Amino acid sequence: MAEPDPTRTPKMRADKVSVFYDGKQALKDVSINIHDDRVTAFIGPSGCGKSTFLRCLNRMNDTIPSAKVTGDIELDGQNINSDAVDVVQLRARVGMVFQKPNPFPKSIYDNVAYGPRIHGLANTKADIDAIVEKSLRRAGLWEEAKDRLQESGTALSGGQQQRLCIARAIAVDPEVILMDEPCSALDPIATAKIEELIHELRGRYAIAIVTHNMQQAARVSQRTAFFHLGELVEYGKTSEIFTNPREVRTQDYITGRYG
Ligand code: ADP
Ligand code: MG
Repeated sequence: MAEPDPTRTPKMRADKVSVFYDGKQALKDVSINIHDDRVTAFIGPSGCGKSTFLRCLNRMNDTIPSAKVTGDIELDGQNINSDAVDVVQLRARVGMVFQKPNPFPKSIYDNVAYGPRIHGLANTKADIDAIVEKSLRRAGLWEEAKDRLQESGTALSGGQQQRLCIARAIAVDPEVILMDEPCSALDPIATAKIEELIHELRGRYAIAIVTHNMQQAARVSQRTAFFHLGELVEYGKTSEIFTNPREVRTQDYITGRYG
């Protein structure tokens, strides 16, 4: 279950990960490997634990006091939950984009420059300018934003705000980008732009995306993991999951038998 491609070393490895909220188990023994030049989609009905699992991968569950995480999670073979890991550094290496675009109430420029500044990735104005431009270009926002860098990020459209949040994640040179239903607040055109962007970013970053939209999972991912009631039911090549699932529960979900 953990490894659809045993010949390769994974970028991230989750081994028997469980999550409890106030003692109530929300995620059960999930083992999964994520590779670095692929998009991995997490699908399944609402409440099945997709966001909970995604948050394990950069320790965002640390911010939820009732949450307790057990099991092992490694990034490049290193245990991310060890005391030796600086969680701020970890979240730069494993960036996150949320369901609702959440730019800082700051300028477009400062939204992108903030991370590189606090991480000391650039010292001079010219260096920061270069990172801002590169990140906005990679996020497909440069042409729309270059003449309004000092305007507030919150003045952008929803789709632009989401691309700004992707630029903000990219600015600190992440290795993995986690996206939790990044298009659910966007219209179809803005959604198509984000999907196109995911295609372009693949190869440079490992990408894990939660989506409740099966068509989106089929379009953007190479690997799909199907969750149900806190369990990882099936994990494999996206094409196989959608055309020839091994498990009855997966089959029922992709044919729309439950929502
Ligand atoms: P999904 O993203 O697949 O919709 P979640 O990971 O959000 O599912 O939720 C999985 C389960 O954990 C659900 O039963 C949900 O109610 C519970 N849960 C999620 N977040 C919290 C939280 N902060 N506190 C308590 N329970 C939570
Ligand atoms: Mg969710």
